[in-house]
Amino acid sequence: MTAEQVTLTMDEQKNIALIAHDNKKQELIDWCLKNKTILEHHFLCGTGTTAKMVAERTGLPIRGFNSGPLGGDQQIGARIVDGKIDVVIFFSDPLTAQPHDPDVKALLRIAQVYDIPIANNRATADFILASPFMSGTYTHELPDFHSAVKERAKNLPKGQEN
Ligand code: PGA
Repeated sequence: MTAEQVTLTMDEQKNIALIAHDNKKQELIDWCLKNKTILEHHFLCGTGTTAKMVAERTGLPIRGFNSGPLGGDQQIGARIVDGKIDVVIFFSDPLTAQPHDPDVKALLRIAQVYDIPIANNRATADFILASPFMSGTYTHELPDFHSAVKERAKNLPKGQEN
């Protein structure tokens, strides 16, 4: 895909999505408790069960979407496309098969497409949170998807319409 670039800037206050598979939920809650003073400066959201448990056990305000297996990962993916998520903290379970594995893959892929930092484990989450970009702005270049659509529509082979 050849496309022009657009420049996007993340604000000081980040929109952070939190997701944890069942075997990793306690680890995410512990991580949130440890980092509560940082996380309370940002806007949090998450998949349904994760968001509910994090809210109850940490007191952090967090918007909950659907549960992951019921489309929550896809809702977060859609918000990435809309430019409404800046960071994803996703403690996935590498040792247990998930019924919604295609949704998980789709989320990882769309985060990559939109150049969104995404942590799959605690060490990466620690590195992201320690980054100076968390308390400042961050500017990055993305393909201009509108110009990409125009270009593809112009260049793909046409049908036989009169
Ligand atoms: P949950 O979903 O927070 O509703 O458990 C997480 C996931 O499995 O994607």
